[in-house]
Amino acid sequence: MANWPALAPLTGRVGRPLVVEALRAWADAKRGAPEAADPEACARWCETRLGGLARSTLRRVFNLTGTVLHTNLGRALLPEEAIEAAVTAMRSPATLEYDLAGAGRGERDDHIAPWLCRLTGAEAATAVNNNAGAVLIVLSALAAGREVIVSRGELIEIGGAFRIPDIMARAGCRLVEVGTTNRTHLRDYAAAIGPETAAIMKVHPSNYAVQGFTTSVTAAELVPLARDKGLPVIEDLGSGTLVDLETWGLPHEPTAREAIEAGIDVVTFSGDKLLGGPQAGLLVGKKGFIERIAKNPLKRALRLDKVRLAALEATLRLYADPEKLVARVPTIRMLARPATEIRAQAERLLPVLAEALGAGWQTAIEPVRGQIGSGALPVDLLPSFALSVKGQGKGSGLDRLAEAFRRLPIPVIGRIRDETLLFDLRTLDDEAAFAGQLTPALTLPLKGEGRGGGS
Ligand SMILES: *Cc1c(COP(=O)(O)O)cnc(C)c1O
Repeated sequence: MANWPALAPLTGRVGRPLVVEALRAWADAKRGAPEAADPEACARWCETRLGGLARSTLRRVFNLTGTVLHTNLGRALLPEEAIEAAVTAMRSPATLEYDLAGAGRGERDDHIAPWLCRLTGAEAATAVNNNAGAVLIVLSALAAGREVIVSRGELIEIGGAFRIPDIMARAGCRLVEVGTTNRTHLRDYAAAIGPETAAIMKVHPSNYAVQGFTTSVTAAELVPLARDKGLPVIEDLGSGTLVDLETWGLPHEPTAREAIEAGIDVVTFSGDKLLGGPQAGLLVGKKGFIERIAKNPLKRALRLDKVRLAALEATLRLYADPEKLVARVPTIRMLARPATEIRAQAERLLPVLAEALGAGWQTAIEPVRGQIGSGALPVDLLPSFALSVKGQGKGSGLDRLAEAFRRLPIPVIGRIRDETLLFDLRTLDDEAAFAGQLTPALTLPLKGEGRGGGS
């Protein structure tokens, strides 16, 4: 059976072992059935069964959710310079830990530490797998077996099971909570300091905002107290941008440089959030502390590979010229994109969408508010425009239409709100590829199923 000519194309694509496996399943399923010996029917059956394997499960999509840094959709899109650097590093041997001048051993961190120091004003820097790893290693290196003081207003959980109390426990530290959810004062920290205290930690509240009757202690207030007691202050900045977002009319998000200038001893932040680079956890701060972190055994377990280091270095290099960031760093370009430009794009695409969907759907341009995502500035705030689709009446099959968009060759991910399917265009870069998919064939899977009971 494996030699049936009808199976040759499939064998060419996925290889013989998988086809043989599918044929066994076919033989089991069709034992005694009349089509068991029909090569064409068998080929079609195997094709369906193996179809999914011929294509990667990690697929390119259009993120039109309105969340620029969407964790489930892979966060930052990398600058071209970073992509090129990563490809070169993948293809060839590279000076990952090799010093060409001395023809001897070099350090991985040498590729990125000078840039991080230059861009944040820190004395030293290092990098690990992600920011969760950065928090884990800084706590483990500076405070294992001892106490770390954190405000109750900052004991956050962010998506994907990252909880400050759990990370503390894994790092072998004892968490000492101070203050209350909405108010923590400097005197609360002062009262909690004892002989077992190893550090004070601040955490960016990330994906939630405490509003109303609130007080928190700034880094600038906390640092003198900690200095006085000989304790380091650690800050998990979360997104941690390297530039002031106000430059592009966005609200202020704390920068790594501000934290360093306020006297924080070790600052941690992500590489693939506002920075717009590859996944990484960056640590910047005082030389003595960074050296202790770099020598911790976890550093080896959490280290970056050459591909991400190459991409990270190339991304950091772009920050040397802030004026070109909008043109070169996709994350910043998308955040800075003027609403008027998005609206003009929506006007170009609306007729194409309306034509593809036909008479059964109501299409329009709708003003919407998107968000940065990944914990930065959690309150909806990016004024944008979306293509909107409404069905006719309740139970109009909007869920099924959303699914049809997800089945396109390049799946399109939007969001449904108030019985409306929205495609926020802030993050639409490749307009031609998007428009090219909008054909009447889009709704084919919906035809003949009756739109009535879909949702
Ligand atoms: C996002 C975030 C993290 C986790 O960072 P990853 O790079 O996803 O590991 C940790 N702390 C804060 C405050 C965050 O916003």
